[in-house]
Order: sequence, then structure tokens, then C-alpha cells
Amino acid sequence: MKVETREKLYEGKAKIVYATNQPGVIIQYFKDDKGVVNNRMSATLFERLERAGVPTHYLGTLSDREMLCRKLEIIKIETIVRNLVAGSLAKRTGLEEGTPIKEPIVELYYKSDPLGDPMLNDDHVRMLKLAVPAELAWIRRTALRINGVLRPHLLRRGLLLVDFKLEFGRSGKKLYLGDEISPDTCRLWDRTTREKLDKDRFRRDLGGVEEAYQEVYRRLVAAASGTA
Ligand code: UDP
Repeated sequence: MKVETREKLYEGKAKIVYATNQPGVIIQYFKDDKGVVNNRMSATLFERLERAGVPTHYLGTLSDREMLCRKLEIIKIETIVRNLVAGSLAKRTGLEEGTPIKEPIVELYYKSDPLGDPMLNDDHVRMLKLAVPAELAWIRRTALRINGVLRPHLLRRGLLLVDFKLEFGRSGKKLYLGDEISPDTCRLWDRTTREKLDKDRFRRDLGGVEEAYQEVYRRLVAAASGTA
């Protein structure tokens, strides 16, 4: 059966989620000028993670901007994994950006725009009933496992995975990785020059945003498919 787009379920800053004619299947449409890179990079990394046994919502790529996904009930936690100090961790600790973290760390934030995504600990997660303890344990374990797959994968392609954000969700009795993995949700630095090749170029007004995203695309997507 051919997948057909149905009603819009949700629209965010960078993505639109559509229902389809197939139950339990949605389409993530990646908007704006970075959409193609974000879609293609997410697809290759989800495929890599599936091969490593990490369950993801990824079902396939429909076009440059459209990803076919399993519909999830999203858990309202943003899970962040860090390998080097940067961003809010540098601010909170006073440690210099780029300081290596011996054992990668996991942070949890409440996915709530009105509250500004405040940090949570496990007790807050339980109090807010965002996830049961077994789910949270799985999320922490899986986030570190994902880091264990992606960090060397990206390093081989000349990219330091500084930190990244993950979202998980439920479908039936199982948990899956959802959302996207892209320069919008990861800090990626050039392995040798440490040049920033991610959304920080935009956030920090460094210029060269388009070029940085294209460079990440070239190293991760084009090189892999042999098209450039
Ligand atoms: N991040 C994200 N969405 C958010 C917050 C953070 O994708 O709403 C990503 C961000 O791109 C970075 C990592 O999570 O790769 C850690 O972000 P941090 O806590 O340092 O916050 P920031 O400095 O981005 O405000």
C-alpha cells in the first residue's frame, strides 16, 4: 500500500508531523533551509543505530525532506549525552568549553516550552510521572549505548561528537528512539581544527551556517552513498 499524507498532527519550529493512511505510521517533514541535511543525516544515523540493535522510530526515507516513522507517544524528557564540556554545562560548572569528560554523562530536561526546559533528576521524573523507573533506566542505558555507536562513527568521519539531545517514546509495550539526530540537536566539531559544524554557528552568530551543514552532509551522507 502506498503511503499517503493525511492531516497535520503537529507543527514545530523545524518539523511538521503528518498522519498517514497507515495506522501507527507518521511522516516527519523537515522544514527550512537545513531540512534536507537534518533529514538525510538523521536517516543515516538511525540506520546505523538499527544495525547496532537500538530500536528507533525510523521506517524509511520518502524524499529529501520526508521521513517515514513509527508513531510514538513521546516521553516529555529531553535526554542529553555529553562527551566534552560545552554550552549550558560550561556555564553551570565554570569548566572551559572543550574540557573532556572521562565518563560520558547523561542529563535530563523537562520537555516544556512554557517552563523553558528545566533540568530534572530521577525523583522529579517520578514525581511528574513522565516515565516509570524501569523506563528511565532503559533511557539512560540506551542513551549511553547510542553514544557508544555514534561517537566512533562520527570520529571516523572527522567529527567530534561533543554532546547531543535525544527524545524517546512508547509504541505498544516497547520504547523507541524518536525525533532526529542532526546538527540542530548535536554539537559537532571538526576533529582536527575543532571548528563548530552545528547549530552553534547560528546561535552564536558565527556565520557560515549553510557551509557547516553542507560539510556535515558531505562527510556523513554524500560520502556514504557515493553521490559526491
Ligand atoms: N539541545 C537541543 N535542544 C534543546 C536543548 C539542547 O537539541 O532544546 C542540544 C544542543 O544542540 C546541544 C546539547 O543538546 O547539542 C546540549 O545543549 P546545552 O544543554 O549545552 O544547551 P545550549 O547551550 O544549547 O542552550
